[in-house]
Amino acid sequence: MFKDIYERSLAGKITKKDAAALLKADAFELFQTADAVRRELAGDAVSYVVNRNMNFTDICIGTCAFCAFRNTENYRLTDAQLLKKVGEAKKYGATEVCIQGGLLPDMYLEDYVAMLRTIKDRYEIDIHAFSPMEVFHMSNISGVSVSHSLKELKKAGLGSMPGTAAEILVDSIRKKICPGKLTTKQWVDVVTKAHETGIPTTATIMYGHIETWEDRLDHIFIQRDIQRKTHGFTEFVPLSFMSKNNPLGNIVLKQKGSMGASGLDDLKMYALARLIFGKDLINVQASWVKLGPKLAQVALSCGANDLGGTLMEERISKTAGATAGECMSPEELQAIIRDAGRTPRQRTTLYQDAKPAMKVSARTPGKKANK
Ligand code: SF4
Repeated sequence: MFKDIYERSLAGKITKKDAAALLKADAFELFQTADAVRRELAGDAVSYVVNRNMNFTDICIGTCAFCAFRNTENYRLTDAQLLKKVGEAKKYGATEVCIQGGLLPDMYLEDYVAMLRTIKDRYEIDIHAFSPMEVFHMSNISGVSVSHSLKELKKAGLGSMPGTAAEILVDSIRKKICPGKLTTKQWVDVVTKAHETGIPTTATIMYGHIETWEDRLDHIFIQRDIQRKTHGFTEFVPLSFMSKNNPLGNIVLKQKGSMGASGLDDLKMYALARLIFGKDLINVQASWVKLGPKLAQVALSCGANDLGGTLMEERISKTAGATAGECMSPEELQAIIRDAGRTPRQRTTLYQDAKPAMKVSARTPGKKANK
């Protein structure tokens, strides 16, 4: 069975029926097969990006039941605070800033565009920003189409987007865990349009709450189909549900007696995703924030080939109970990778080899954003 699965994964021929059967098969053979496919497609190097995560506001009109982040401090970064953080990231050698925030009722497309310009006028750095939900929200409140927003954001310097807000792409689950968020169809639409506009995104899944394995598989196959059409996903990022300080965590505990996915389920997620995406998507990222460094190391032998970023600060998972910390130095990430018997490779957001750390730009600061 597993030799056949290996070959069909590489040929992009894994079906939902295969995936369902694999869930009942021997877990260790599943992991071995995913590891073999990873080796064939992505080699033995494990990539990581030196980046800084920045949540520009925690103020949000959203109602997601899994959120422990919104309105905890009620802050909104000023341009000066934003630039200070980007400047620190540059000094640290970061090639990327990842920017997301809550949904502000009074922040329009022009404000997001101004934020990008403020950074780009001052620093040369890849900007990986704004979830499909943020793009959907800014388009709605600004009275413009999603395509228009995406074009303006790209013109202002948006390099790529986090494919977050996907959660589980099954509407019956979305209605329960994030009723105010965009629907599955709308998420697919924003992401597809981003790819068509030349903005690559990641593909994420947030699993380990009220969804079933069938829901998870439906989700992954939706993303595989998008990838076959657009080739715009840079990587698949499974995000294990963090159950602390949010209403969904209490529901999961009451209904299922569970605090989230088990370690074994985490690893199965990596292995299955690797086999299902096959040649269509080479990069599968293990999130050290969600898994912790040790399980992330194991995931590197179950299909993953990337460890994500250094982050420098991470509020969303931390407020929901993640204990792995907010910052991992490049040296620590390299050590984790070497200790897992693999070779570290620093990459850019788009998986090119990263250039050595650049000096802080000497460019004159641009005009201040109109905020
Ligand atoms: S997950 Fe995002 S959109 Fe949902 S409530 Fe939290 S900050 Fe708002």
